[in-house]
Amino acid sequence: MAKERSLRIAHLYPELLNLYGDSGNMLVLRKRLEWRQMACHVDEVHVGQLPSLAHADIVFVGGGSDREQRIVCDSLQSARTELAAFVEDGGVLVAVCGGYQLLGHSYTMGDEEVKGLSLVDLYTTRGSPRLVGNVVVKSRISSQPIVGYENHGGRTHLGAGVEPLGKVLGGYGNNGESGEEGCLYKNVLGTYVHGPLLPKNPGVADWILSRALERKYGDAELEPLDDTEELAANQYCAELYTQH
Ligand code: GLN
Repeated sequence: MAKERSLRIAHLYPELLNLYGDSGNMLVLRKRLEWRQMACHVDEVHVGQLPSLAHADIVFVGGGSDREQRIVCDSLQSARTELAAFVEDGGVLVAVCGGYQLLGHSYTMGDEEVKGLSLVDLYTTRGSPRLVGNVVVKSRISSQPIVGYENHGGRTHLGAGVEPLGKVLGGYGNNGESGEEGCLYKNVLGTYVHGPLLPKNPGVADWILSRALERKYGDAELEPLDDTEELAANQYCAELYTQH
């Protein structure tokens, strides 16, 4: 019998960073493990607590408003050393929108600068108007286009060595000008895509799971699932969101 496998997720600040259903991503990761006879443990980390990453396989940070980002900033700074060690060791970190912005060096709003974690070489400034609407992205990590919803004032700029998550086919992405969306660095995935991200993007969910299983067990293989409904939803959105 195959060795029993399981993954542990640290979900940072779910009470503050849960825009547009971002916490729903936890349900998708859990179900896609359970459907394959693997267990999933989710440890919620609240503001003021420090995440213990010694046993974490995946860290998830959702999006939030500027106000909420200011609140989590201090908490995040106290976790910086541990998070940086986790990332450099190949830990899987998924961050959406406000969480994505905090992976970088800074988020500047006029005269005010919210310090980021500098886990990935990128920075964000707030611009006008907000970039709002449906988004479609072509990415090497998923055989389907990535579809979802974005709503951000921030314009994110990637450092020279940072790979984008993908190319924008519809919507704005990182800053509305580069034609790029999100970032990939080691096993870090940053993106503006809410929705939540994973229910309509099974390829992204399985990329996250296989990266974590590879690091933990040296085996990234995942049994295929019947994704008929997820793929139909994905295709419907991809077609609708790329119509002009
Ligand atoms: N506060 C950030 C911005 O507006 C992030 C918003 C979000 O997470 N959707 O750019």
